[in-house]
This record gives sequence, structure tokens and C-alpha cells, in this order.
Amino acid sequence: MPAYLDNAATTKPCDEAISACLAAMTENYGNPSSLHKVGLSAELAVTDARKAIAAALVCQPECITFTSGATEANNTLILGAAENYGKRKKKVVVSAVEHPSVSETMKLLEKNGFEIVRIKPQRDGSIDAEEFINAVDSSTFLVSCMYVNNETGAVMPVKRIFTQIKKLYPDCITHCDAVQAFMKLPIKTADLGADLITVSGHKVHAPKGVGAMYIRKGIRIAPRMLGGGQEKGLRSGTESVPLISAFGAAVRVQLPTIATAYSNAEELCGRLRKKLSALDYITINSNAENQCPYILNFSVNGIRSEIMLHFLESKNIFVSSGSACSKGGHSSVLTAMGVPDKTADSAIRVSFSRMSSCGEVEALATALQEGYLSLAKR
Ligand code: PMP
Repeated sequence: MPAYLDNAATTKPCDEAISACLAAMTENYGNPSSLHKVGLSAELAVTDARKAIAAALVCQPECITFTSGATEANNTLILGAAENYGKRKKKVVVSAVEHPSVSETMKLLEKNGFEIVRIKPQRDGSIDAEEFINAVDSSTFLVSCMYVNNETGAVMPVKRIFTQIKKLYPDCITHCDAVQAFMKLPIKTADLGADLITVSGHKVHAPKGVGAMYIRKGIRIAPRMLGGGQEKGLRSGTESVPLISAFGAAVRVQLPTIATAYSNAEELCGRLRKKLSALDYITINSNAENQCPYILNFSVNGIRSEIMLHFLESKNIFVSSGSACSKGGHSSVLTAMGVPDKTADSAIRVSFSRMSSCGEVEALATALQEGYLSLAKR
């Protein structure tokens, strides 16, 4: 049995998602914009999925727009907010550990004359809420902070950051990349204080190529994709009914058991952390206090990530070296946290899903020890 422990990179689609996807290709194959009943049933499938995502975020379905994934959602929200709200105000405050779909978009804004203030993480990987809030002033039109970091699992104090900024600067737009928190931590848009939220399907047992953005009522985002005016003009292009239906089905089936799945992840993460803490050649990079238990990042001292990754692969165990999102090079997240280069070079990211089991943790712990013994000698 393979141990798939790379769920922050992507998850295995669940049966419900696969069935919904298939149904949308075999039965609801119409174009949601068509006026006949084949089109109508496709439209209803999209409406159902929208309701499911809205229920998970505790918001109105009208606030949800489907995209091709979180990368598109982050690009659209940030660039679309800059176009409408960044004419006079030019400052953006963002965490320094965002996913490239946010950080690269910020670089583009910077090139176009915006001032981007990046808040570095603390040694534990999280952002200091007060430092973030204090960096915002009346010239700031947008702030962006992810909910859970995709490399370390650090949970950011997003509620405190967003609600406080909204109190001090009600016109400032607040954006949260919640990809690694969605369906893992309970998210209520009203409590979070975010005007804009990004989520992705393939991190929650739906297929790749579908995501969604929450846009609070009253916030105007200029579209990136122009054309037929689908998704209320925010995202033109014929809706991917199979992927959207699958996303909705996956979310609908998981929603009632978020808490039990979280306890399972906590149990697995705690078990692995305990085992790793007993090994003197392992440094755990994820802080225990403010960590989402779905992700654990550690370094096997003296063994480069890729070497250990391939050793584990030979044992049918699949993990990630730092982040699967950034190919090669240092993890900028670990570096920003002050992790020494040598330790960052041997970082391994283990990430669980609701399908993960104790057996997988045991297999990983055994293989890590075997790997260290055979690789450290060379
Ligand atoms: N944000 C975060 C925090 C992520 O982890 C990812 C996926 N690695 C993305 C955005 C991009 O998501 P997608 O693959 O749906 O474009």
C-alpha cells in the first residue's frame, strides 16, 4: 500500500467528486448558457455546486465565483482590486510567505509602480499580527495574508489582522488565500473579516483545474478574463461543469465531518511529531503551537531533501521537499523564518488529508530511520 503524504500538493479525488464529474459529462453535458433544458440542467449543477461552496464558507452563493483554480483566483482578485481601488492609493501590505500565485502577482504590481510592504514571518513561521497591522496606513488599498502556510502549516492570525484593519481603515480591501485552510479549519466569512477569499478544488479531494473566489458584496473586482460574461461578467468562458460539479460534491460530502477529520489529522501529526522528536538527527521546522495539523515540515539533518524524498519513494512513500509549488532552489518560506540554509536544504514536507491513516505514519517513521542509516553513511 503506498503512503501518499503529499496532500498539500494535491489530494486524491473522492468517490463523490468522481461520480459528480462523470454525471456532468454523461448527463449534464449542456452549456449552462443555453436556453433549452439540457443547458438548464447544467446550469442547475453549477448552482448546486455554488451553494455547496457558499455553505462551507458560510456566505451567500452570489458571492462565489468559479475559476480554474486558486492561481487564477489570486491573480484576478489582486490585479482586479488594484485596477479598481489602486488609482490614488498605491500601497499593499502582504505577508512575505505567500504562495507564488500571490507573491509573483505582487511583483507585477511593484513593477507597475505600487509600493509592496512584505511582512516577514517570525521564527515559528507565523506573522506577528501587530507588525502587520502597524504597516497599514491610509494609503493602503489592499492587504493580503494567507490563512495556513503551504510549506510549514503555520496558521496566521488572519482574523485579528483583517478585523483590526477593517476597524482602522474600513476602505482597505482584505484578501485571504485560504487554500490550505479550506475544509480543514472552520471558515466563516463574517468572522474572518476578509473581503476576498481564495480556495482550490484539488486540495479538498476534487479534481485539478477548479477553484473559487469569494467576493464580499459591494467589492468591485475588475475581471481578467473577458468574453461572454459568464459568472456575472467576472470570469468569462464556458463554465467547466464537470469540475465545478465535482468540487461542489466533494465539499458537500466533507462539510459535516470537518471536525472529525481535523481530530484525525491532529492524531496523525502528533504521532509523527512524537516519533521525530525522539530522533536527534531530525529538526522539526513547524511550530507545535500554531500549526495546522495537516502539514508537518522537518529536516533530516545532513541529507538533502531530494535524496531522502527519492529514498522514501523507493519505499512507496510520497512526500514533498519543502514545497511542491517551487521547483528547486531554497524554500523562501524557511529562509524567511530564519532557518539556516543547510537545514532548509534537507526539509521534508509531510501533508495529510482526511484519507490519511496511522499505518502511513508508521511506514514513514520506519522508512525515515532506514533512510537515515543508509544515506548518512555515504
Ligand atoms: N495558494 C496556496 C496556499 C497553495 O498551496 C496553492 C497550491 N499549491 C495555490 C494557492 C494554487 O492553487 P492551484 O493549484 O489551484 O492554482
